Amino acid sequence: MVRSENNQIRGNRRNMAMKSNSMQTEKEEIIRVGRLLHDKGLLVRTWGNISSRIDEKHFLITPSGIRYEDLTPEMIVCVNAEDLSYEGSILPSSEKMVHAVCYQRRKDARFIVHTHQVYASCAGALGLHEISTEYEEDEICIPCAPYALPGTQKLADHVSETLQRYKQARGLIMSNHGTVCIGSNSAEAVQEAVKLEIAANNFLMDRCNTDIRHGVCEGYSSRKTNGQIIYDIEDTPDRVKRIHEEIYTKRPDISHIVHNKSEAVMLMSRRAVHMKPLLDDFAQLIGTEVTVPLNVHGHDGDRLHIRKNVNVVFNLNDGAYCLGKSRDDAEAVAIVLDKGCIAQIAATRYGEAHFLSWMDCMKMNRHYRKKYSKLAEQHE
Ligand SMILES: [Zn+2]
Repeated sequence: MVRSENNQIRGNRRNMAMKSNSMQTEKEEIIRVGRLLHDKGLLVRTWGNISSRIDEKHFLITPSGIRYEDLTPEMIVCVNAEDLSYEGSILPSSEKMVHAVCYQRRKDARFIVHTHQVYASCAGALGLHEISTEYEEDEICIPCAPYALPGTQKLADHVSETLQRYKQARGLIMSNHGTVCIGSNSAEAVQEAVKLEIAANNFLMDRCNTDIRHGVCEGYSSRKTNGQIIYDIEDTPDRVKRIHEEIYTKRPDISHIVHNKSEAVMLMSRRAVHMKPLLDDFAQLIGTEVTVPLNVHGHDGDRLHIRKNVNVVFNLNDGAYCLGKSRDDAEAVAIVLDKGCIAQIAATRYGEAHFLSWMDCMKMNRHYRKKYSKLAEQHE
């Protein structure tokens, strides 16, 4: 009796040790995939998230607000798929609900990647239920889950219903937000994300005539320290210096400006339109509406539109100045603006799109600013 109990205890310990070993391996795999997708340009900064199913009831997921380059296995959180409870003090990604419904819907799912990748996100802002396009000479169809605010049950429900409707789909677009890619292992999920990006870009090129590279192309940037403006480029022209001075005067809350002259941002800076958010991250980081100055035939081509809580200032035919409390913030704004401009150009050329409602943009913008100031307080 005693011997069999001892054997059982030993067996349990062995099982627990094996389980924790495989947990460690899975955590390392999540980090490896995060870096891989980061290198491929499909995941940037802290945006998006990755998860891996470890048993019937639990999955591991990346934490909220930590860069992929800085992730360590201890930061990966174990979440209960049924009630979304989690172990430890690190906050799991706010999109855990979406992952949970995917594991419920797809019993063979072992690995999930959620990205804010550029072309798929832009194609997903056109208001389509599905995107029919080509991938390696095959006709394919990418399902688009209807829009709902990020982190909500409604968004998870929309993803779940879309997976139910498209039973064969391994990937989908969450409208105005990003993608969800499901695999029976990590390689399959990564492959799906790559495929969606190429296919979405094919769609944008064919149907919207937008063959636009993405990224930030820096012009004249600066920072303000102790009341002094320091320019990254020594011979910054006076006309540009006047713009920086005006921005710092009207926005005393910011201390960094990144001048973005990427192809998409330059194109937008030649048009007089009000840019309303087509993507969640635009509403969160940039603002609820951005004004682009009128062209030379209009009346206010020279006037800069500098507003509180709008972190982008367009200048006619000169790209846009992206504002932040730190260099990091201003760079984030520049990246999100570039994507937002591609979405806007695609929408204009396609002829229709689904713009986010003012109310949703307000909510997201406020929520983001609150969350950000809390995070900044913690790091002080
Ligand atoms: Zn997201």
